[in-house]
Amino acid sequence: MMTNILTVAEIKDNQLRNVSFEAIALGKELGTVTTLLINGTDDMVQQLSAHGADSIVTVTNEKLAPYSNDGYTQAISAALDTVNPEYLILGHTAIGKDIAPRIAIRRNAGLITDVIDYDGNSYKRPVYSGKAFEEKTFNSEFKVITIRPNNFAVQNMAGAGEVTPLDVEIKDLRTTINEIVQKTTAGVDLAEAKVVVAGGRGVKSKEGFDMLQELAAVLGGAVGASRGATDAEYCDYSLQIGQTGKVVTPDLYIACGISGAIQHLAGMSNAKVIVAINKDPEANIFSVADYGIVGDLFEVVPMLTDAFKAA
Ligand code: FAD
Repeated sequence: MMTNILTVAEIKDNQLRNVSFEAIALGKELGTVTTLLINGTDDMVQQLSAHGADSIVTVTNEKLAPYSNDGYTQAISAALDTVNPEYLILGHTAIGKDIAPRIAIRRNAGLITDVIDYDGNSYKRPVYSGKAFEEKTFNSEFKVITIRPNNFAVQNMAGAGEVTPLDVEIKDLRTTINEIVQKTTAGVDLAEAKVVVAGGRGVKSKEGFDMLQELAAVLGGAVGASRGATDAEYCDYSLQIGQTGKVVTPDLYIACGISGAIQHLAGMSNAKVIVAINKDPEANIFSVADYGIVGDLFEVVPMLTDAFKAA
């Protein structure tokens, strides 16, 4: 008998987050995938199907917008009762981190979070800020997994994509969000960007960050920062990468004027290719870099931007 998997699709800024497709990809390795889509569109249903979802359960309810732990617990619980899966897979995002433990405790499930790989037997996750990895397996009947964005190859294979609307009565919301005051962040989502151009104190000013933005735009990537840069107010705190900021796993990470403090490495050392630009050849960032450029970033970054534009 095929194993049933339930994944939860996540929407940000009216678009499906890529991690929704990564969850389906992992689910397909484990069995038959049903994806829960909350307040989504027909186009999103098509996209989930095109990325391999065998079936899609849709829930439409205005009480589920914006996200609340109480509301999503009810919607996911209803989908679990309908699908009766062995696994629940979510992104290791703010929502996934918030909801997964609650569902796990309610259903007496084993929970493995922040998974970056599955070898057919055990789940690999970074520990100690990425300095070590542990491999875990489940002993429980029902299992809950969160996956770190950008670690599973998405599948472009059409699933059956059969759609079942699910009517869920959402009640007893103990808190209500009245307003979300959102910072406008243009361009690619930092957490899911395939390319991150990050700046540190060496970038020296807000104008310096405009230069990084240009390089990021040419590469279709996002700009990130060290705490040195955010503390100096060269850019917004939401761009901070590291132990007390975001954790990113892009294909390419270009560190500009960042010394490579351990707290920064905690957020980016698992990037697939790391390029460091620093004028100090002894800078610690070179210890994790695949390619190092010893030089002045104000010369190197415009040269890279021009070269990529010309390519
Ligand atoms: P610096 O260490 O000052 O390095 C600047 C670098 O720029 C230097 O290596 C210099 O050689 C280079 N440079 C200067 N000019 C140029 C130039 N023209 N061209 C090329 N290179 C140049 N930090 C984080 O990043 N993220 C975190 O989440 C985080 N969390 C923390 C949590 C705690 C509890 C603590 C105590 C610290 C945390 N920090 C964090 C801070 C961290 O310890 C470092 O202070 C910070 O990362 C340093 O930022 P930086 O590399 O930009 O600055």
